[in-house]
Amino acid sequence: MRHPLVMGNWKLNGSKHMTADLIAGLRNALSSVDGCDVAIAPPVMYLGQAHQDIAGSHITLSAQNVDINLNGAFTGEISAEMLKDIGVRYVIIGHSERRTYHKESDELVAKKFAVLKDAGLIPVLCIGETEAENEAGKTKEVCSRQIDAVLNTLGVEAFNNTVIAYEPVWAIGTGKSATPAQAQAVHKFIRDHIAKKNAAVAQQLILQYGGSVNDKNASELFAQPDIDGALVGGASLKADAFSAIVKAA
Ligand code: 13P
Repeated sequence: MRHPLVMGNWKLNGSKHMTADLIAGLRNALSSVDGCDVAIAPPVMYLGQAHQDIAGSHITLSAQNVDINLNGAFTGEISAEMLKDIGVRYVIIGHSERRTYHKESDELVAKKFAVLKDAGLIPVLCIGETEAENEAGKTKEVCSRQIDAVLNTLGVEAFNNTVIAYEPVWAIGTGKSATPAQAQAVHKFIRDHIAKKNAAVAQQLILQYGGSVNDKNASELFAQPDIDGALVGGASLKADAFSAIVKAA
């Protein structure tokens, strides 16, 4: 049985005060929640504080990015070992905002995946098509290309104990979530795509949906057989909304 995973991607939002408040609110609301893994991904500079603030709770930490280099002359970058050192468990890679604004290629994302596996961190590989690609009927083509960049370089076993987040770009921050049926169809396609190489790896893979998930639409999304949780943006910045999504899982 797959354990659902609900993760809050704070993106470029937060402060010391907000981190403390939000975590206190989540601890309070989620103290009795069992059966769902919960992680938050604050901006990297608040990870240390967040690690202290979550102590003793079952909330875990994710980073939003990692560099492919381990150390050395790479000004401004953060390595996998540093993230591990500070108590991080998951790292989001390949988010569409990084693919778009930082021109991250499928190949670079695959290198990040490899670096995280080597460090013993769990990659959360974000994939998904743009609105134009969706309208052109290219959703499966785009998703399989983004997965194959990892599959063809690292092999299917690399997907053991990892997460893929299907985030259609047109649904991110737009208030226009994919319907449960639309999301399920793509999730099933992704699981089948991995299963063609190794059925056992596909069965244990956590497949999150992301894109305008909120406390209203979460239950119906989570009721789909191949949706194992969510990667939540905007609604993860409010303790009540995010805890309601966790409870729906
Ligand atoms: P929203 O939930 O704000 O649409 O963002 C989704 C997302 O990009 C999570 O990584």
